[in-house]
Amino acid sequence: MQTQKRFIAGAVCPRCAEMDRIVTYSTDEGQFRECVSCGFKDKLQDEPAAPVAELETRVSRVEKPQQDPDIQPLRFFKKPPTKH
Ligand SMILES: [Zn+2]
Repeated sequence: MQTQKRFIAGAVCPRCAEMDRIVTYSTDEGQFRECVSCGFKDKLQDEPAAPVAELETRVSRVEKPQQDPDIQPLRFFKKPPTKH
């Protein structure tokens, strides 16, 4: 079976610190992320594949409105948010 891998835009590998090298994919065992540069692999817990790139294409599915620009949870993006 072919697993579909998608790049996470702006994601930085925690091991080799390369940007845009992290792909995410899901198997029967769950959701994983993997670095195509160094081979780093990690399992994601109960995390829907909702990287920044997806939020930009599915605006209607954003669940929590981000009203306070000062509150920025763990996030990788390097460019300022353009939505709003
Ligand atoms: Zn890496």
